[in-house]
Amino acid sequence: MTVVSGRTARARDAFRAVEKFYFDSRYGERRGDPAISDFTFGNPHEMPLQGIVAAIREAALPRDKDWFAYKTSEEAPRAFVADILSKELALRFEPADIALTAGAFAAISVAFRLLLDAGDEVVYSEPGWFCYEPTLLAADAIPRKVALARPRFDLDLDAIDAAIGPRTRLVIVNTPHNPTGRIYERAQLVALAERLERASQRIGRRIFLLSDEPYRRIRFDGRAFTSPAAVYPWTLIAYSYGKVLLAPGQRLGYLAISPLMPAAEREPLRDAVFAAQMAIGWCFPNAIMQQALPQLDRLSIDVAALARRRDIMTDALAKAGHTVLAPEGTFYLWAKWSGDPERQWNALADRDVFVLPGSVMNAKEYFRISLTASDEMVERALPAFVRAQSRESSDTVPLPR
Ligand code: PLP
Repeated sequence: MTVVSGRTARARDAFRAVEKFYFDSRYGERRGDPAISDFTFGNPHEMPLQGIVAAIREAALPRDKDWFAYKTSEEAPRAFVADILSKELALRFEPADIALTAGAFAAISVAFRLLLDAGDEVVYSEPGWFCYEPTLLAADAIPRKVALARPRFDLDLDAIDAAIGPRTRLVIVNTPHNPTGRIYERAQLVALAERLERASQRIGRRIFLLSDEPYRRIRFDGRAFTSPAAVYPWTLIAYSYGKVLLAPGQRLGYLAISPLMPAAEREPLRDAVFAAQMAIGWCFPNAIMQQALPQLDRLSIDVAALARRRDIMTDALAKAGHTVLAPEGTFYLWAKWSGDPERQWNALADRDVFVLPGSVMNAKEYFRISLTASDEMVERALPAFVRAQSRESSDTVPLPR
């Protein structure tokens, strides 16, 4: 007898490799062990920013009877986000364009629920965030994956165009990009917008764009950022404070509709967003996070410290023979193994160093390093990279795929 619904079973299967890696692998056995250098996921390995604690503590003190009442997208934080986002992206967002969500995860789910019917197709590039596929499958949508153009992992506009068919409804762009750290330049996004406009005419159906930008404020070397929302009017932005605060367990983010979107589409989306959020399961941020939003918005992890770690790790990985793609943003480093991926991953694990195998992102010859590891972890790991290179593990455990 089938107990689990078909859509959830498909989502489960799509997420299996990551789940297995997290809970049931050599990494799963050692996760949380203070002796390891953990470069796998974008989790904190040091105490949280002091400002977060102060903002949450302050916001937790009730000032009226409604403090912990049901909260939707509350007026004050919504107006605040509209204002700061207008300044940040040089677009004129109105409060009604902003839906406050429990992080980017929820913003993405709301976007899917708003735009997609069962059987609609969604195009996105790989390697990419491993949760798009299960989230799409759980929404009864069909993922259409296209490869990023190597060696620099640029968007492959021809491949995106070729993947668009009569059922296409949405294209996802993630910039700055997890896992490669690339930030797509304005000219590339303009070219994509032209393609999407032409493709929409061709299929006789408006193609929307979801710009997933939770790493937007984490950029290196003064890099500029263009949101697709500025160049393609039919864009929705998903954002999370989880990355810039490095506090992903305190869920806060938003979905924003591009103010360039024509009223014929913008108004119905604004009108339906509350229902989508409620019907998915009240995926608004909780009361305390909404009250704390203006204070939290002023804070950021130390991007200069990330850049220092990036430089140290880039150097160490290059010395160990791996090929590193210089990240422009995010807190990840994307590198190509110099030899057999399984042997090399296991050789690092033998030396208490854990990285995310590219196999969980359909790129098995690569690996990802999260620069959220502490300085101490980085220091400890440096010799391991060199030694693991010279003597690969004999005890090779297969990596998830
Ligand atoms: N989008 C991308 C590209 C991500 O890397 C992540 C988290 O890793 C998310 C969305 C989800 O962010 P959050 O957990 O803060 O909602």
